Amino acid sequence: MLLLMQRFIFIILSLSFFLPITAQFDKNQYDLAFPLNIPIELSGNFGELRSNHFHAGIDFKTQQVIDKPVFSVADGYVSRFGVSPTGYGHVIYINHYNGLTSVYAHLESFVPFLDSIVQAKQHEERSFAVDFTLPKDEVKVRRLEQIGWSGNTGSSGGPHVHFELRDTYTEEPLNPFFFYDIEDTVRPRVNKFLLYPVSAEGLVEGASRKRTFIVEQPQAGAYRHKGNVAIKAWGRVGLGVHSYDYMPNANNIYGVHSVRVLVDGNEVFMYQMDRFSFDKTRYMNAFIDYEEWYKTRSMMMQLFRLPNNRLDNYANLVNDGYLLINEERTYAVETIIKDFHGNTTTLKFSIQGVKQEIPKVEHGNAVLMPYEQENVFENTDIKFTIPAGSFYDNVYFNYSVRNDAKSFSDVHDLHLPTVPLHNFAELRMRLKNDSLSDKNKYYIARKNRLNGFDYVGNEYEDGFMIAKTRELGQYAILLDNEAPTIRLATVNNGHVVFKVSDTQSGVSHYNGYVNNDWALFKYDRKTNTITYKFDRMRLEKGNVHHIELRVFDKCGNEAVYQNQVWW
Ligand SMILES: [Zn+2]
Repeated sequence: MLLLMQRFIFIILSLSFFLPITAQFDKNQYDLAFPLNIPIELSGNFGELRSNHFHAGIDFKTQQVIDKPVFSVADGYVSRFGVSPTGYGHVIYINHYNGLTSVYAHLESFVPFLDSIVQAKQHEERSFAVDFTLPKDEVKVRRLEQIGWSGNTGSSGGPHVHFELRDTYTEEPLNPFFFYDIEDTVRPRVNKFLLYPVSAEGLVEGASRKRTFIVEQPQAGAYRHKGNVAIKAWGRVGLGVHSYDYMPNANNIYGVHSVRVLVDGNEVFMYQMDRFSFDKTRYMNAFIDYEEWYKTRSMMMQLFRLPNNRLDNYANLVNDGYLLINEERTYAVETIIKDFHGNTTTLKFSIQGVKQEIPKVEHGNAVLMPYEQENVFENTDIKFTIPAGSFYDNVYFNYSVRNDAKSFSDVHDLHLPTVPLHNFAELRMRLKNDSLSDKNKYYIARKNRLNGFDYVGNEYEDGFMIAKTRELGQYAILLDNEAPTIRLATVNNGHVVFKVSDTQSGVSHYNGYVNNDWALFKYDRKTNTITYKFDRMRLEKGNVHHIELRVFDKCGNEAVYQNQVWW
């Protein structure tokens, strides 16, 4: 086993030093079973671009239903359990003896001997949400032993199993396709591409704004600029592409595995998704066109590296992947996009270098914020402290403020919501119209994409409200002095189901009691549902039971529901 481990570590080392092309694992050496015993179909793959992160695993479809048995893929021991109303929902982590950890998320439930361990922890902590580790070999499982049932718990968009393979030692997620034979004969598709002239350093078709180009596909898998017309450009220009992979007999879209860019046959950019680190997953926002994502929810891959993009998934970058058009000639640009199985798609276009004056850019009152240093924006009503390394590039920061009768502060525009922020910044905003004695009923809120306001934080200090945020955009102080609502939805089959909601700051935490003892009430955030299942181990059937549910919002307002239920 030691030998195996050393070999594995060696593979990892070679991976990080010669990333990404040498990444190889021997499927036969690992011999992993599938976690499900139904036909394998995927609704998501590794490295897919998701909101603020790369997808860390693969999503197995479960025939649109929950409660399919889920099995350990190899011998090992349970190293961690998680239960949460969001995120992974019910999740099991199993450490194997080959350097891998497997993760099974959004489960409906655990098999009884595992569930009893989790329930003991939940009662000990008096919390539905738990996340705890177990010592080596305390709870052993065998290859293909059932560990739970598939579900749709946590932040899941439909019944499926989210499955990850991690390097046990670094906890980095690995592309599970290294370990499984899953057929894919369908190549990626290209929907469009963009060119991004660098501010004050480049022009595309005579303009300094980014530009979208339509594609056509004269031969299968070989795309080009529509009409095969050369694009006029000058200076420093970035390329972006909108592309997804597909699989046989499925309507889903998947992330591509690698993208290379060649100019006149020479590679200037390569990106490959074999593994990444959770510490860096948020740099996904520097890989995509974040403005496009914010406005249209479409994920455009940027085939150049912004100065503060720390992702390790690049190789062979020349000029950080930017195209340098500084000669009056034709440049042949080729993008080669592959899925994990090597199915290949190309996008070709030509750029005509047309020498021209690149106009200077006026920044008005904007404040230059260099990405590598801490930046503070401050006036008498606001202090915004942005830690070093929070921007992916230098930002000319714009600020504006206006009065608003409905808020308990001025409304502050902190630059634009279309510019991503990597780290949490501290925001202090002065309270105006301050009449409440309980200052925690005030909260800082941020305008969302749908023009509603989302709670950000409600700490109070010396006339200011304080919050941490990782988004730019419009901020105001609002008030929440209304309790959440609790509605009894059904009492059925020993289940008591509640619907809970809070229109202002949102539901924060809750506690359920049966006959005045803390009881395990399950919470599903996406459906605003809290469920209690009568517990045969702890209650006597055939009685009237006193049920109590207390729900708090983020500003501390409390709602109480009490009733007698026969079970
Ligand atoms: Zn997933």
